[in-house]
Amino acid sequence: MRYISTRGQAPALNFEDVLLAGLASDGGLYVPENLPRFTQEQIASWADLPYHELAFNVMRPFVTDSIPDADFKQILQETYGVFAHSAVAPLRQLDSNEWVLELFHGPTLAFKDFALQLLGRLLDYFLQKRGERVVIMGATSGDTGSAAIEGCRRCENVDIFILHPHNRVSEVQRRQMTTIMGENIHNIAIEGNFDDCQEMVKASFADQGFLKGTRLVAVNSINWARIMAQIVYYFHAALQLGGPARSIAFSVPTGNFGDIFAGYLARNMGLPISQLVVATNRNDILHRFMSGNQYNKDTLHPSLSPSMDIMVSSNFERLLFDLHGRNGALVAELLGEFKQTGKLSVAEDRWTEARKLFDSLAVDDEQTCTTIANVYAETGELLDPHTAIGVHAARECRRSLSTPMVTLGTAHPVKFPDAVREAGVGQELHLPAHLSDLFEREERCTVLENSLAAVQQFVAAYGNRGKPL
Ligand SMILES: *Cc1c(COP(=O)(O)O)cnc(C)c1O
Repeated sequence: MRYISTRGQAPALNFEDVLLAGLASDGGLYVPENLPRFTQEQIASWADLPYHELAFNVMRPFVTDSIPDADFKQILQETYGVFAHSAVAPLRQLDSNEWVLELFHGPTLAFKDFALQLLGRLLDYFLQKRGERVVIMGATSGDTGSAAIEGCRRCENVDIFILHPHNRVSEVQRRQMTTIMGENIHNIAIEGNFDDCQEMVKASFADQGFLKGTRLVAVNSINWARIMAQIVYYFHAALQLGGPARSIAFSVPTGNFGDIFAGYLARNMGLPISQLVVATNRNDILHRFMSGNQYNKDTLHPSLSPSMDIMVSSNFERLLFDLHGRNGALVAELLGEFKQTGKLSVAEDRWTEARKLFDSLAVDDEQTCTTIANVYAETGELLDPHTAIGVHAARECRRSLSTPMVTLGTAHPVKFPDAVREAGVGQELHLPAHLSDLFEREERCTVLENSLAAVQQFVAAYGNRGKPL
């Protein structure tokens, strides 16, 4: 499988190089040159497989020229073996033909474990083979950081630096990052906001001189491997619910458009998905595009669902590429304009094409809390605020009551106790067994001023298992 850039100017790469590249050299994102397509018979034959074997079948075409089958199988078995639920991604029924796919049984209690547990193992595999070391730098508003650290903590050849805004992530989220000890793990609290953190990571990718030749790897969802791993659970859910003989709809709590883009790819690979609902919070740039063809940058509004507090959605570019007949020059032009004006619209027929599959809704904090309270009263299922947004949007946007509607349950409610409290649900929240002593564990974290030079000096000083690069 070869991968090409959404802006058409970067060299095509194989899977191994895409994993290590992050952003393409022309500023675009990598996508597969040709998507594999499975027949209904093939998909149906996977119905009884355990999760890691289904994952092997779905992902094999994407990696096959970079990893021998036996090695990939073993990596997948290890990856999904650490999940706390034997079904890995169990379905919970809320109402007739309405479901939540629980994606929060991984080590850090959010769906990001599905991709980052795999990414860490794949990095280790390739770096060992190459005899190379890399540095990871990532910015987090909460969930990505802990999942990335947990995924890479055992990687021999990786030093990981995670930047979070000082005093602006929840205590559970912070402790999930800062209590993991290892000479290759570095938490940096920046005296600034999330955008400051993200800007510093971006600037470091753009000018890597401070790394003295060590390669920098991305762990956010611009990395293709993350999207790839997320395709699998769409197949998993559909197969549990009568697919592929029957079509199915999904509602996805959306921020950077990574998770829902994986659903779009699952459909193009042959899974009969009839509808995808883009569920956003008040930060609704994607809803404004889907409902009115206006992808316009707005200011950031902090919400009860912080993992979806974004101003622009980086993976949206991957959809734009397909909507424009995979014309990289056109995508580069559109995004160039967006960078200057903060506004983007597509031709009417392109937008209509997108609307055949996608619907959307923006859900505010009040409605989020009402949904948490209502679903808890109706079913006893306690939703986290992100999942609640998905469930509300699913109910509002649903096209057909006879098609199963599955909302992706993106996080465990224990990660977001404030929202659960605001919803008025009196139930006490308990951390799962493997995290039950989280509040007693020792923390390690370095607070740095809001300065790129300070961060880069820190990385250069500790980037080789705690020693200078
Ligand atoms: C990251 C995250 C999202 C958003 O996912 P995207 O792939 O960025 O759209 C939603 N919910 C939770 C809990 C998350 O951690």
